[in-house]
Formats: sequence, structure tokens, C-alpha cells
Amino acid sequence: MRYVSTRNKSEHVSSAQAIERGLSVDGGLFVPEVLPRLPKGAIGELRGMNYRQRAVYVMKLFLEDYTVAELTDFTNRAYGPEGFDTPKVAPVRKLDHRTHFLELWHGPTCAFKDMALQMLPYLLTAATAKNGETRKVCILVATSGDTGKAALEGFADVEGTKIMVFYPRDGVSDIQKLQMTSQEGSNVAVCAVNGNFDDAQTTVKEIFSDPELREELSKSGWLLSSANSINWGRLLPQIVYYISAYCDLISSGDISEGDGVNFCVPTGNFGDILAGYYAMKMGLPVKRLICASNKNDVLTSFINTGVYDRNRDFYTTISPSMDILVSSNLERLLFDLSGSDDSETAGYMEKLRQTGRYEISDKIKSALDDVFSAASCDDEETKAVIMRAFKEHEYLMDTHTAVAYGALEKYRRATGDETVSVVVSTASPYKFCAAVLEAIGETPAHTGPELIAELESASGVPAPAPLKALMGKTARFTRSLDKTELKGEVRDFLK
Ligand SMILES: *Cc1c(COP(=O)(O)O)cnc(C)c1O
Repeated sequence: MRYVSTRNKSEHVSSAQAIERGLSVDGGLFVPEVLPRLPKGAIGELRGMNYRQRAVYVMKLFLEDYTVAELTDFTNRAYGPEGFDTPKVAPVRKLDHRTHFLELWHGPTCAFKDMALQMLPYLLTAATAKNGETRKVCILVATSGDTGKAALEGFADVEGTKIMVFYPRDGVSDIQKLQMTSQEGSNVAVCAVNGNFDDAQTTVKEIFSDPELREELSKSGWLLSSANSINWGRLLPQIVYYISAYCDLISSGDISEGDGVNFCVPTGNFGDILAGYYAMKMGLPVKRLICASNKNDVLTSFINTGVYDRNRDFYTTISPSMDILVSSNLERLLFDLSGSDDSETAGYMEKLRQTGRYEISDKIKSALDDVFSAASCDDEETKAVIMRAFKEHEYLMDTHTAVAYGALEKYRRATGDETVSVVVSTASPYKFCAAVLEAIGETPAHTGPELIAELESASGVPAPAPLKALMGKTARFTRSLDKTELKGEVRDFLK
């Protein structure tokens, strides 16, 4: 199967090339030229498999240039018992007769980014080998929180790679900071940047696009690469859990094969929900995809009106991983809904760049309406949702998941749709202890990892082991640098 750029269909690459390059030279994103269909009888077959086997089956449909033996090895390493605290990997938990939570936070960093970032290092290092690349790969990441830690865990001690993560000194939670600065592994480095997330991200982008530095690093055997969510190697592993959840719902007797289900997804960069869309296009019986936003509701407005407009206030919320104004993966959806029209897609992206706004054609809007609904929740609503689910069901959820559950409830009230629905649960409540404590009526008395013990005793819900382990940890990486020093830091790291 070949991959094409969303801005230029005549640019064809293999899956290994798409994964190694991340972004196409024309600025577009790589997508499969034709989406594969689930073969007849696939759901029956997949139901009999464990999560890792399901991942091999689904990913193989997209990765012609990888062997089943390779993918089996990768999934065993990525989703094994060292990293995941349940053999189900992505378990489905029932709340009531029509509401289920797909828990994607049983991995090493307790957020759904693990589902992709545990796999990406294997896909990427295999890709460079397949492409005849002899340089080693250095991953640079600017992070506002979850991605940095998940990428560190994924790449730590992976042969032929190094990873360096930059985070804004005052822009991440205490727990997120300690998660990163206590990272183990011989090939990792973590650095605070004096500034905000934008400062860190802009500087890292400048490093990527510095031809002299690239040339210099290349001579010493290093290729710079990124682990951000536009890479096809991050999107693909996410398709698996939609299909896996559907299989589990049949096995638990909650649906029959062929029944439609809804998925409601807390959305930031549009990667997670796009994977659900691809699962549907492959033939999974998905009825509707409900896109949930927090107060940064640019996507809710887009889905409801057909106008994408990033010219709006930016809010800091209690669901920070969704505090985003430009959702990069939306480009892939536009390409697909337009019938793979690369020039139309490129046109929207150019308008977005120039004016911060674009309006989709009637044709795309109507295709969008056929599948997507959207709703948003502000912080107060989010906390109320956490409180109610905890009181009524003794189910403790994190702030991002609560945005989605709240959005699902709004959707149900608006439409009367009673379809069995799956809320995609993207983080452990223990990653956002302070907000969750407040939501269940407690006043946080501590800061940092002590909050974990506090939430445990207030809720009676056990905290995941990797977060509990933070309580005794000290930082390994304590440097903080000015923006101008980052380039030198990268040079030194690769000496
Ligand atoms: C990244 C993230 C999201 C948003 O996912 P996208 O793929 O960017 O839409 C939601 N919740 C959590 C906890 C996240 O870390």
C-alpha cells in the first residue's frame, strides 16, 4: 500500500518512508492512498485474539513493508506486562447499560499517548533500516506535558536512538515535571526552558529547520526526527483500540455483531478521534463520532458550523491536553471527506495560515454531518461530571475523560440517541490530582506527588503503580536553559 501527501497526491511513498519522514516536503500529512477494509469475518477472528494479536492484525493491513514476525515482536515489546498493568491493555469498563469507558491509560505514563508512543520507536527504527538509513535517530520533543513523558518512556534504551525533551519551566504540573525529570535510561535527556510552551516549541522547530545544524549532525551520524502526533506511526496504533473495544463489547454481550456504536472522544490535536474515523471507514460499525472539547471549543464550532476559526481567546483549563487552537490532524479528515482532493485541502490550509480561518464546502460539510457530532464542557461542568460519576457509580475519571462524558450527555439530551456509547478515557485521574480532588469536594492540602496519596485516601481508588512510585523519586535532570542555549545543548547531547 502506498501513502500520499494530503497536499499532493502524486507524491507516493512507502509506509516505512511515511513513518521516517513524518511530514511531507509540501507540508502535507501522509495518508494511505486507499484505506484497507476489514476482511469478511475479521471481527469474529479478532474477537478470539488478545490485544497484541489484534494490533498485529490491524497494523499489518496498513504496513505492507513490515512482516508479521516484526509486528509480533513490536507489539509484544510495546504492550507487554512491564509497561501495561493489565493483559487487556485497553480494557472496556461498563458504567451503565449504554455507557462504557475505553481506558487507554494502563501504560507506563498513565495517559493514552502510551498507546502510540510505546509502539512508535519500533516502527521508526525498523523504518530507517528498511529505507537503508545508516544514521542513528535523535528525537527532539517540545512538550506541554503528557507527550514528553510518553515519548521518553517509549524511546528509553531503544537501540540506535536518543531522545531529548524540552518542557516550559513553569508550564507543566508538578507531577508531570517529576515524571520527566526522574526518567531513567542511558539515551535520554530532559531540559526545562525558561519560557512558555510556545517558546520551547518555536525553538525546537527552528532547530529542525536549521540546515547547517542538520548537516553537521548528519556528518556525525545523526538524523533528527520528531515524535509528534502528525506522524503516521503514531496514528496507526490508535486505530487498533476502536476495533478492540468493539470486539470486547460483543464478547461481554452488550452488543451483537453488526450493531452500531457511538464513540465520544476528548479531542485536542484530532489524532485520537481521527483514528476512530479510520476504523469506521475500514468497516467497523460506528454510528456516530462525538467530538468533545473544553472551553477551547474551536472544533465544536467547526463541526457545528463548517467554519474553522482560530482567531479567538485561548483558555487555560483543567484539561490541559485539550488546550489547543490548531488541530493538525484535521487536515487528514478534510482530505478524506473531500474525496482525496489535494488542492482543496491545500487551499484550506493556506487560508488557515494566512487568515487563521477557513470555511469548508457544502459537500464536505454534509459528509462531516453524516458522521460527526460535537459538544463542549467548561471546567465547572467537567467537575460536576466527575462528582456525579463518582457518587453514583464509584467511578473516578480524569478531567479529559469527564469533558467527553459531559459532551456525550449533552449529545444524548439534544438528540435522544440511545445507541450504546463508548467514552474514550484518555488519562488516569491520578495525573490530574488537584482538579479531581476539588471535583469530588475535597480541598487539596499538598502539592506535587503527595497529592497522589491524598486522592487515594479521599477516593478509595488505588493509584497506578508508576505514579505512586514517583513519591520517593528525585529529579535526575535539573538544568533549565534560555531559548538561545537549546541548540548548543542538542549539539553536546549528540557528541
Ligand atoms: C493528547 C491528549 C488528548 C487529546 O488527544 P488528540 O489526539 O490530540 O485529540 C486528550 N486527553 C489526554 C489526556 C491527552 O493526553
